[in-house]
Amino acid sequence: MPRTAMIAANWKMYKTPAEAKAFLDAFLPLVADHDRDAIAIFPSPVLLPTVIEVAKGSNVAVGAQNIHFAEEGAYTGETSIGQLIAVGGTHTLIGHSERRQYFAETDAIVNKKLHTALKHGILPVVCIGEVLGEREAGKTEEVLKTQVTGAFAGITAEMAKPIVIAYEPVWAIGTGKTATPAIAQEAHVLIKSLLGVPVLYGGSVTPGNAADLFAQPDVDGALVGGASLDLESFAAICRAAASHS
Ligand code: PEP
Repeated sequence: MPRTAMIAANWKMYKTPAEAKAFLDAFLPLVADHDRDAIAIFPSPVLLPTVIEVAKGSNVAVGAQNIHFAEEGAYTGETSIGQLIAVGGTHTLIGHSERRQYFAETDAIVNKKLHTALKHGILPVVCIGEVLGEREAGKTEEVLKTQVTGAFAGITAEMAKPIVIAYEPVWAIGTGKTATPAIAQEAHVLIKSLLGVPVLYGGSVTPGNAADLFAQPDVDGALVGGASLDLESFAAICRAAASHS
């Protein structure tokens, strides 16, 4: 597997189409020498057509922050895999902690979404991670094992090949409390012992801490929220990753 599998931007519920276009017009030339699909942007569904159009022909991939597991149906407010494919999306996040926390997404739902993505050739970034209370109670390993087992039910080693995991300790997301490189490394080793797939780290990654995280032998990239909204910050994180690949 490549040393740096992916640097992914989770734009959450930020940016208008005009802001997204302005970001990409300035950002794409800064990362033109990166490998194809080594950078992926995950905007809100309403931004997908704009971002895909502007990124067309570049080396940057575009995906959804969430898809529904059903092919189509009466699921108000949701996005189907067919809709994502129709607008040209190639990737999707699955099981982000904000989906788990605010939209009651369980490991069983994550598993159904994973099967749907793989069936349609969409590349999944599956998010897992413990909350602070679980870490403090010494349950991190147990929680990660449970999440992995639940998410990967019925997924063979062959099927798992296109999957990327994002280890995102929930206490580090949007809090400014990054996991230390040693904490990230320890969790990544555990996850890789369960699944032979690349593992990204997510949780308050910034240009200031990215290089130390990427220096860890089992940190294969990053899922970046807040710092991905600023093009200079995100480009700096991408550069830090490239220098370790
Ligand atoms: C995320 O949204 O996945 C994330 C890691 O956010 P932040 O970088 O802001 O902590």
